Amino acid sequence: MDIQYVKGVGPQRAKRLRKLNIHTVEDLLYYVPRDYEDRSQFKTISQCIEGEKVGLRVNVCGYPERRKARKNLSILRVQVKDASGYAYLVWFNQDYMINKLSLNDEIVVYGKVNIFNNQIQIMNPTIEKGDEEKVGRIIPIYALTNRLTNNEMIRIMTNAIRDYSSNLKERLPEYMIKDLNLMPIQEAIKNIHFPKSRSHYVKARKRLAFEELLILQLGLFLIKSRQEAINKGIQFPPVKEVYSFIEDLPFKLTKAQMKVFREVEKDMESHVQMNRLIQGDVGSGKTIMAVLAMFKAWKAGYQSVMMAPTEILAQQHFNSISKYFEDYDIRCELLVGSFTNKKKEAILKDLKEGKIHVLIGTHAVIQDKVEFKNLGLAITDEQHRFGVRQRAILSQKGESPDILVMTATPIPRTLALILYGDLDISIIDELPPGRKEIETYAVGFNLIDRVHNFVKKQLLEGRQAYIVCPLIEESESLDLESAEELYNTLKEEVYKDFKLGLLHGRMKQEEKDAVMERFANKELDLLVSTTVIEVGINVPNANIMVIYNAERFGLAQLHQLRGRVGRGEYQSYCILINGSNSKIARERMRILQSSSDGFYISEKDLELRGPGEFFGTRQHGLPDLKIANLFTDMEILKLAQKKAKEIIERDAYLLEDCHYYLRESIIDIFKDRIKDIIFN
Ligand code: ADP
Ligand code: MG
Repeated sequence: MDIQYVKGVGPQRAKRLRKLNIHTVEDLLYYVPRDYEDRSQFKTISQCIEGEKVGLRVNVCGYPERRKARKNLSILRVQVKDASGYAYLVWFNQDYMINKLSLNDEIVVYGKVNIFNNQIQIMNPTIEKGDEEKVGRIIPIYALTNRLTNNEMIRIMTNAIRDYSSNLKERLPEYMIKDLNLMPIQEAIKNIHFPKSRSHYVKARKRLAFEELLILQLGLFLIKSRQEAINKGIQFPPVKEVYSFIEDLPFKLTKAQMKVFREVEKDMESHVQMNRLIQGDVGSGKTIMAVLAMFKAWKAGYQSVMMAPTEILAQQHFNSISKYFEDYDIRCELLVGSFTNKKKEAILKDLKEGKIHVLIGTHAVIQDKVEFKNLGLAITDEQHRFGVRQRAILSQKGESPDILVMTATPIPRTLALILYGDLDISIIDELPPGRKEIETYAVGFNLIDRVHNFVKKQLLEGRQAYIVCPLIEESESLDLESAEELYNTLKEEVYKDFKLGLLHGRMKQEEKDAVMERFANKELDLLVSTTVIEVGINVPNANIMVIYNAERFGLAQLHQLRGRVGRGEYQSYCILINGSNSKIARERMRILQSSSDGFYISEKDLELRGPGEFFGTRQHGLPDLKIANLFTDMEILKLAQKKAKEIIERDAYLLEDCHYYLRESIIDIFKDRIKDIIFN
């Protein structure tokens, strides 16, 4: 039913509600409060404390007085009492309250305490007659747009619950509600808005969060299994030469790399389209996995493409990958935005004619003009920097090419099942041998001179270093300023006898490339940079990473930055300069010092900081969650995953009657994305 017909709504409010994406009664009932105010605990007047919000049961014991204090300010005051003493209720510009007050009325008030001239005043309180429903309860607070007040919303919600909650469909199957002892939907909806008690609230929320996560996970499982059933992919033939290629590598693949390559190989040789995510910590050797897959595609006569998030990274991949392929008749090309049109056009022409076998680049490779002759393999590196849409565009450059995505952002498996719900997951859980542990130190700014002396000593021995300056959030220009300032100070005062370079996001591509190249060629000793060096850069001779104001970075990001060193034969160091005294900052530094395990670090990061930007469900192409939180509701998520699996094992397409509403709900939240591929 349309929202307009709920009692107390009407056309005007309906418009405002629609702005909140509330279109039907059901939308309204599922519009859960963002917070609550606990008015279930009453105090007495004598217990009032300045500045606190209190609920009081009082009697009106005086006549209301109105006073015009200024032109725009009218003050209404009335005296009240309870057994412990007297107080005044005070309203500013709310003269209509006078109509609600009569002498000797017993009322419940809720408002902020202000002590003025030794009198207790309750400021702009809400009042209720003793027999009204809302009184003495936990009151919901809704996220609203400006023209709808919380009180209006409470009234509307009260009506909707009274008149329509009994029509709510129970989406969960009966047997599940029993098994898990969940609160039935009508009760849950009532209690999520107007909890009878704290424990009612907890149960209601758990039930609703469970329902939401179950539907999400079920939908993802279904999408995945159906994609597998209908997405015919390329069936690449087995290629023996891959193994001699592996033999000829300058290093021996780790066990984990070998295992992951076999998974990739198996996917490629099956007739189903590969959709695989390779997760591996910084330095675990993901690039070579891409190289092997590309080799296999080339042998079968197909083109490959690899997309990286930055030009620096694309360039670096291009350099190292061309080298791997130099003894073969494999033509690699780089395509980035900063190329001249003439250069781009030449590449695009050869690509279309199939003369280029491997294309490596940035977003430039997903531009409309880019056409392949026969793309067989599409790879995305550092997946977390791209949206799902970009990955999709890339794969549409061919006819169901196999898809490989790589990420250095380790996330717990439970989450991966949601965030990468449509992908199979391979994990490289081992670093190549001989890597020295990076020694990590956290120091305050008071030791900065000693840090620089240490760096200088290493530079004199022929090593190179990075100094990362903090990202200043929300302002790229401030960011730049801080980088330039630091660069100038270091150059002119601290590192006078050394060659310094500066790298930041605002530089033109050629400038960045030039600086990186000079650093890679050892023409520079020290690189001052913003976080643009965070992803992927590989200069084995660089062995020190100094991070200014490390407290401003996420743990996962610090771990990534640290991963820029420790790539060569030298002992490497990461020095975190902590500019904060807070306990949590120190705890974060301690975690980095004590662990080099990316999975552990990212779990801790979630615990301490909550989900960072890239964990947003939207970026992963998932529907928004209304109730559940993927990170704090981890236990509920686990349960939902377990139950989703059980349901699918029992009823793969949700055709049983008891699953009817689950199925409807899945279609509803995934909309077109699921309609076409499922349930037809
Ligand atoms: P990441 O997983 O961070 O992308 P890379 O693929 O860039 O890591 O690999 C990091 C470095 O490790 C590269 O210099 C690469 O040549 C090297 N490497 C990869 N695999 C191995 C291995 N099995 N043994 C030794 N070195 C390796
Ligand atoms: Mg990499």
